[in-house]
Amino acid sequence: MTGDQLRGDRTAPPTNSAYLDYNATAPVRPEAASAVLDTLRVPGNASSPHAAGQRASALVQLGRSQLAELLRCSPNELVITSGATEANNLALRVAAPDGGQLVVSATEHPAVLEAARQIATDQGCDLTIIGVDRDGQLRLDELHAALNSPLPTVVSIMAANNETGVLNDIQEMAELTRAAGGIFHTDATQLVGRLPLDLSTVTIDMLSLSAHKFGGPQGVGALFLRRGLPVAHRPLVRGGGQERGWRAGTLNVAGIAGMGAAAAAAQAQLDIERERTAQLRDRLEALVLAALPDTQINGRSVPRLPGVSSMTFPGAPADAVLSGLPEVAASDGSACSSGALAPSHVLLAMGRTAEEAESTVRFSLGHATTKAEIDFAAEQVVSVVRRVKEAMWVS
Ligand code: PMP
Repeated sequence: MTGDQLRGDRTAPPTNSAYLDYNATAPVRPEAASAVLDTLRVPGNASSPHAAGQRASALVQLGRSQLAELLRCSPNELVITSGATEANNLALRVAAPDGGQLVVSATEHPAVLEAARQIATDQGCDLTIIGVDRDGQLRLDELHAALNSPLPTVVSIMAANNETGVLNDIQEMAELTRAAGGIFHTDATQLVGRLPLDLSTVTIDMLSLSAHKFGGPQGVGALFLRRGLPVAHRPLVRGGGQERGWRAGTLNVAGIAGMGAAAAAAQAQLDIERERTAQLRDRLEALVLAALPDTQINGRSVPRLPGVSSMTFPGAPADAVLSGLPEVAASDGSACSSGALAPSHVLLAMGRTAEEAESTVRFSLGHATTKAEIDFAAEQVVSVVRRVKEAMWVS
């Protein structure tokens, strides 16, 4: 974080662009960029026995232990992957019991939903999809009912939703699942590095994450697999036996070093960033609501990630709003599904109409967001939404 940001930007100059798409990808933290560059300059395959290989291996160990420290788990419980998509696929593949039950929520990222559908077909599992209420909170009665099943069960519920930021009480869900004899996985991609998490005290069995959401490089992530968990050895990628046989392939030394450095920086600044980001998000919402009082903020009355605001602008389609805002990086629904014409499955599951879902923009803030960016974005959003509404009204 720069000095300006720490001082609350009182002296920072105005800006003419705003990057508010941290849930799609966060800017790389300076500590992570340096770690990647420094590592790229040093040759070495972390599996080679010579000194160069051992230097690479030491960098991998450092990155892995920095990540383990952030999560408060053992470095040996982490399987390094290419990101959360792969981690989610691996988690469900190894845990899904043949002929058992897979339980997921309706608002999961496609990296869980699509993987669950395929794995349920391949392994003959029943797939149970749990609904949410209007605020995006999981229907716990449906989870209880699913856990009553006599089938061996794996539950996968995300820690924080990527479109709305709505948090699930994963500790409670993990405990319920364990009490029923099931295995609990969480896709914590949007939570890691933004809110505290302590795997030494929470009974989560498996957890997925991706470095680029907390200021590390893209293309690297991890699956936490609790030691001794009764899962099947079904790696998605077979080969040289790296990662204790869970994920073969030459280790991405620079990526792992960058992920570790980002984890250490995120951990050191967690409390201050959490506070700052929530204040900036609240400022954005207050400025927009003051000028556009019919704006609906999705999930506003329940616990949310500090840096996310999902805003529905009645009468203003999100594609028209976003194309009028080239210098404000934001997203309609989930960036991972943008390009697809279907309205957001998350907002539909929350009981919104297709029209409401298609008039929703997600703003997501994080470690480097400034007050100047928020003020610029609010002013731009208000004027573009007004313009789009007028145009829709006239046409
Ligand atoms: N899960 C969630 C909740 C996400 O937000 C994302 C990224 N949008 C992913 C999984 C996939 O992460 P990656 O693209 O890094 O594999």
